[in-house]
Amino acid sequence: MTTILRVTATPCSVPLHTPFVTALRRTETTDTVVVTITDSDGRTGWGEAPQVWQVTGESLAGATACIETMLGPAVTGRRIDDRDDLRATAAVVQRAVARNFGAKAAVDAALHDLVAQAEGTSVAAVLAGRPDGIRDVLTTDVTLSAGAPDALADTALARVTDGFRTLKMKVGTDASTDVQRVASVRDAVGPDVAIRLDANQGWTREDAVQVIRALEVADLGVEFVEQPVVADDVEGLAWVRERVDLPIMADESCYGPFDLERIIRLGAADLVNVKLAKCGSLSVGRDMLRRAHEVGLRTIVGSMMESHVGVGAAAALVAAEPTTEVSDLDAAWWSVSSPVLGGIRYEGNQIEVPRTGGLGICGYADNS
Ligand SMILES: [Mg+2]
Repeated sequence: MTTILRVTATPCSVPLHTPFVTALRRTETTDTVVVTITDSDGRTGWGEAPQVWQVTGESLAGATACIETMLGPAVTGRRIDDRDDLRATAAVVQRAVARNFGAKAAVDAALHDLVAQAEGTSVAAVLAGRPDGIRDVLTTDVTLSAGAPDALADTALARVTDGFRTLKMKVGTDASTDVQRVASVRDAVGPDVAIRLDANQGWTREDAVQVIRALEVADLGVEFVEQPVVADDVEGLAWVRERVDLPIMADESCYGPFDLERIIRLGAADLVNVKLAKCGSLSVGRDMLRRAHEVGLRTIVGSMMESHVGVGAAAALVAAEPTTEVSDLDAAWWSVSSPVLGGIRYEGNQIEVPRTGGLGICGYADNS
């Protein structure tokens, strides 16, 4: 019988090679909590709870406290022999506290990692419930930080040189210049590179319609516009969507399955962005993708600014349940180095996802 011996939460600060700037924040580090779960056979499962004050409201201190005082004790001593044990223990995690989705996602990923390692397979295979048809290479976009038009054009060209074919632009910082900045990037990269926009709640409903209409008139080849209005204004998303032609994506308005149903009911979006730090669980994320696909919504899987551990779990989700669009999983690419050994690997715009050994992480890296 295999049981859970120990859960640890270790705050980490990983330097970025380029500052990350959105309508909501600017950061030069990824600040995150790396979680490990050790079982009685000596295996270690890994997970990550990123600090995202401006989006989820979760912090290093909050996630650490949640894991050390609530989630850790709730799972310690439980059996983790097989997938039934995994389902039961993952459900305990979801019920243990309200919200705290990043902390729950971290523990949930580590549990999946343990079971996948014990079975000698990948987290994606465990999640998909089948050994075959699991992808081991994903394509990701890359974000351009918010900035002035000239600087953005330079950065866009650099990213194309780095191998990326889909650029995600942060807009919503200044409605009067948003179109100009997108035009500047389109001019720089030419017609063959995809451009998607994320306003991160930065516009009013009226600004959103005005800017999106202007983007349409300028014919800048935008794939979709993500989260034009504040998270709670799902009716506003629908209001904007009714008045524009470009596809609208819900991100901060879509945490879990109930948000997804509300979006479906209101016709509030064409696409949804599923993230583990919002929905708190790999299986919930998988079920949200399935539900979205069932009703004809397009999907991406994204992440917060997190390291190779959390992005690895999100990549496993996409590998198990392919999305309709190119993933938004560049977060760990921004890190100067990974806090762990093994796990996912970036190669241009491709992410290689380990096929065996769970998330494929074999220990902390010595970056000191
Ligand atoms: Mg977003």
